[in-house]
Amino acid sequence: MRIDLHCHSTASDGTDTPAELVRNAAAAGLDVVALTDHDSTRGYAEAVAALPRGLTLVTGAELSCRVDGVSMHLLAYLFDPEEPALLAERELIRDDRVPRAQAMIAKLNELGVPVTWEQVKRIAGDGSVGRPHVASALVELGVVPTVSDAFTPEWLADGGRAFVKKHEADPFEAIRLVKNAGGVTVFAHPAAAKRGRTVPESTIAELAAAGLDGIEVDHMDHDADARTRMRGLATDLGLLTTGSSDYHGSRKAVALGANTTDPEVYGEIIRRATGAFPVPGAGGA
Ligand code: AMP
Ligand code: ZN
Ligand code: FE
Ligand code: FE
Repeated sequence: MRIDLHCHSTASDGTDTPAELVRNAAAAGLDVVALTDHDSTRGYAEAVAALPRGLTLVTGAELSCRVDGVSMHLLAYLFDPEEPALLAERELIRDDRVPRAQAMIAKLNELGVPVTWEQVKRIAGDGSVGRPHVASALVELGVVPTVSDAFTPEWLADGGRAFVKKHEADPFEAIRLVKNAGGVTVFAHPAAAKRGRTVPESTIAELAAAGLDGIEVDHMDHDADARTRMRGLATDLGLLTTGSSDYHGSRKAVALGANTTDPEVYGEIIRRATGAFPVPGAGGA
């Protein structure tokens, strides 16, 4: 069984539509794929409708959080997407991304880059707008060669010249909201130091005590040392460990299934979840 529990679609900053994502996941030989768009569940219906036979969809989201001034991402799986309190929090985060993108565009304009909101809006479509969309605009304008090259102090990296913070949830509150909606939580890429400051292990212990279910260990942004350290921490804290690609289509150079999750861990995640069931593909369009 090949299980990839972290993928993005055009409902946030991926480049595959939800239908393309599930078709590509089946073509990549995956048995299970999770749709985890940033702060959004808007891709679910299209993914379910297009789900190929033999592929199972795990519905989820990647929630933007911040603790003690450090940004972190919380993967949430199999929660009830209609549950009002979690829905309201997702909307709050997602809606704030619009004025935040506009503020980053204003900073870029001050730096002499002629990027416009219309351009970024066209690239983002109706997905949760984020820095990767602004970065794609910079690529279009010839300012940087690739999306990743825009994530530098010169441009959009945390604290960079054109960076603006967005609203982010308190992860303790987010864990409570996800649990209340019947979902399961996994701290995404907790040791991804190249993205900026990381959350200390003492805080991960506090999150575990607050009900965090697992941490994502096998991720492209974790080197061998980070994986060993995170696996040890998970053992100490009694947390599940997952692996996933964090696929973003052509916006990031990583393939579906680049890292995968142990079937036993997957079994435990679906056993703990009460908000939604994995959806088996019936052979959609
Ligand atoms: P935002 O949520 O708008 O702050 O944008 C953060 C997103 O940008 C992350 O979730 C990643 O998908 C993406 N990202 C962060 N760092 C990089 C990088 N170095 N190269 C490409 N994408 C990145
Ligand atoms: Zn992303
Ligand atoms: Fe992330
Ligand atoms: Fe992600």
